[in-house]
Parts: sequence; C-alpha cells; structure tokens
Amino acid sequence: MSDVTILKFGGTSVADAAAFTRVVTIVRRLGGPQPVVVVSALAGMTDALFGGAAAAAHGDMAHARRIVDEQLDRHDAVGRSLLRGDAAVQFQHELDRARDELTGLLDGLAGRAGDPAALRDEVVSYGERLSGSLLTAALAAAGVPARAVDARRCIVTDEAYGRATPLPADTERHTQAQLAPLLGAGLVPVLGGYIAATLSGRTTTLGRGGSDYTAALVGAALDAREIQIWTDVSGVLTADPRVVPSARPIPRLSYAEAAELAYFGAKVLHPKTIEPATARRIPVRICNSLAPDDPGTVVAAEPAVWPGAVKAIAHKTGITVLQIASTRMLGAYGFLRALFDVFDRHRTVVDVVTTSEVSVSLTLEDARALPAIVSELRALGDVSIEPHRAIVCVVGEGLRTTPGIAARIFTTVQDINVSLISQGASRVNLTFVVAEDRVHEAVRRLHEACFERERASLGADADAPLGRAAS
Ligand code: ASP
Ligand code: MG
Repeated sequence: MSDVTILKFGGTSVADAAAFTRVVTIVRRLGGPQPVVVVSALAGMTDALFGGAAAAAHGDMAHARRIVDEQLDRHDAVGRSLLRGDAAVQFQHELDRARDELTGLLDGLAGRAGDPAALRDEVVSYGERLSGSLLTAALAAAGVPARAVDARRCIVTDEAYGRATPLPADTERHTQAQLAPLLGAGLVPVLGGYIAATLSGRTTTLGRGGSDYTAALVGAALDAREIQIWTDVSGVLTADPRVVPSARPIPRLSYAEAAELAYFGAKVLHPKTIEPATARRIPVRICNSLAPDDPGTVVAAEPAVWPGAVKAIAHKTGITVLQIASTRMLGAYGFLRALFDVFDRHRTVVDVVTTSEVSVSLTLEDARALPAIVSELRALGDVSIEPHRAIVCVVGEGLRTTPGIAARIFTTVQDINVSLISQGASRVNLTFVVAEDRVHEAVRRLHEACFERERASLGADADAPLGRAAS
C-alpha cells in the first residue's frame, strides 16, 4: 500500500465557483500526504456536449454552437472568479482553443466526416479536460502545487467509443509512468475522469458516470490506501430517505453488500466501476462535499456483522413477476436453459429467480418485450403475470448465519402478501416481492424493526462504530 489517496469529485461537487472552492479546501485538509485528484466535468456539461453533438449531427450548427458558447461561458465565469493574473489569462486561452476545436469537431459531425462515435467522444472529452485544467489552476491559486495530467495518457482502452473497456496492464503502466514522477516531486496530479484513449491515441470515454471508474483504475495502479468518491450525499443510507425520513448513513459496507445495493439505485458505486479497487482490496469511501466532516460510508473488503445483521433495506418498484409452472420440469434437464433462452433472445434482464420442482418465478424490470416473452414461454408451461410489484431487499453480512432473522422480517410484514422469496447466494441479502402499493409501508416497518426498535433495546451497542478508519 502506498501513501496515495485518490479524491474523486463528481459533477455536482464542481458545479460552480463556490463548489470549486470547497473542493480546494477538501484536497488540502483531507487529501493525506499524497493526494491524487480525479474530477468530473462541471454538472450538466457532459449532457450539454452530447446535446451539441446531436444538434450538429442533425445539421443544426447554430444550436450546437450556442450550446458550446453557453457552457464555455460558464467555465469562464468560474475562472474569472477564482483565478488572477497569468493563470486567468492562460485559462482564457484554453477556452478560446476549446471553442475553435469544438467548432471543428461539430462541423465534422454535421458533415459526416469520420466515425461519429469517435467524434462524439472527442467532443464530450472537453468536459473533463476543462474541469481538470480549472481545478488545477484553482488549487495552484490557493497554494497547492497541483499539476494537470491528461487522463488520456494514463487510461488505455479498446476502441468501443462511448463505452470503452480499459486494458488493465497498459493502463497500470501508463498511469504509473505519468504520475510517479509528479508524486516523487511532491506535486498533486489532477486528472479528468471518464476520458481515456486507445493504444493509438484516439480519445475514448468509459461510459456515463465513468469518473468513478477512472478513480478506481488510478487507485489500483498506484496501490492507493483509500479512494474517496466525493458527491452530494453523506454516504449510503439505511433506506431511501424519501420513504424513511429517519434513514441514516451506513458507516461501513463490504464489497458484497455494496454490490447488492447498487441494483437499487442507492447512491452506491457500480460494482463494475470499483472492481479495480476491490481486486486490490482498496477501501472506497463515499463522502459529501457539502458536509466534508461527515464520516461517509466506507466500502471495504472486510465484512462486518452488525448486531441484528441488517445494514440496509432497499426497494425498487416497477417490477413484473412471471411464474412458469410445468410438470415437464420435474426430473428433466434442459428446461431452465430453454426458459432462459427466451429472455436471452429478447435481451431482457432477469433479476431475482426462485425455483421449485415444477415452477419458476422470476422478476423483470424491463417489461417492454413482455408480450413476446410470454407467448414464447407458453410453449414451456403455464404462465402467470403479476404486474405492479416491488422488490424489497434486506442487506447485511451475517444474515444467513444469524438465527431468527427471517422470522423477524416476515413477522414485521405478516399482513402483506409476499409473492416470491430469495436468499441470494451472496449470503448478504434476503429478497422478496410485494405489491407495489404496499412497499413503502413494508420498508418503513422493516426499518423501524431493524434499526429504530433495535437501537432502543440494545442501547448504545446498536450503534456501529462511526468515525474515520485509521489513516
Ligand atoms: N462527466 C461524465 C458524465 O456525466 C462522467 C462522470 O461524471 O462521471 O457521465
Ligand atoms: Mg457523475
């Protein structure tokens, strides 16, 4: 493990001049001995650039230019408020250059000159390139010895424009070669997230939200002691706060728990995104740039079992349950394969599955292909459809080994009809399905039973340890 801390700031953390100022303070105070900064484009910039590219591709260059001007003006305003003297002039020049280059690229899209996917990546890359320059200059203006690093010299990918896959060995080598000399000289490298390049140097992007991925790749290459993901919430919460106002941040999650929660849209990192970090057992901390002293949530390798085992109650509405019953399934092989082939053909993701000797129940979120799927499934058995369902997922290390958990959970919702139950192979979740119109009630009651009542009866012991991990 090195002394490096990766600090990644999302778009909302760099939305305007005040936000940049907060980021500078955070890097100084909480960056540890060797901070490395990864930054997203200013909030809304990537969307705007995609909009500009689309307008140009439709031949509306006037609209495309207007979008670019608006966005560059926003950057200009931040620059004017934070930078003085030479730094201000240099950033102005960079904006002028960006305007010219973007106009050329948009003209290319309008005139269909070249691969549009490659041109689009080049266009949107200006979001992270400019935020990287701006943050570097803002840090320098505040006395932090920062250096801008072009992430395209570090993160090496295949040629799948728009959603490129990093090449791990090349990425590691290039990242180390670019950053080690800077770190050795006591400088703070600042990289744009999300953007990368092919081996031949063409700009690519890692897919929307890809800056977290960059942070994990850089953290892995430098064997960082921690990766901090700075956003606008104080970590992962015990439940959706719109449903459970008393939901509170979870101090610590295992990688497996975080992976389960990611599906529920809790503000958790995508498991694929942090894979480079998990593979090296580097802890990933989710922090709030509006409340930097909140401990946030640490996602780390070591599983921790809480009293009562439950750490979060997640849910998701808009679920359809399908049940397929067939006596042909009894003692026969090949049935499940035939069944899943149907979903495969219709490119439909199945989320939760349970089987008995003669039936299969499963959940779908994307029901667009449902009529076609159902008519094909009828060839395999009797099919019933339950629309308007919701998945409830109780997450916690030790769920499977803590006696009485299932009884407690189902007692809490005993008057609510449960249509499917699954205890995942990951050992950290118990998932079930209820009618959509009862799900909020179910989640509130479970939260009360697992956290509020629990805390009252266990007293202070029920509070898992808060505070920053030893650093
Ligand atoms: N700016 C990119 C996006 O909006 C990447 C990121 O923010 O992580 O998707
Ligand atoms: Mg983002």
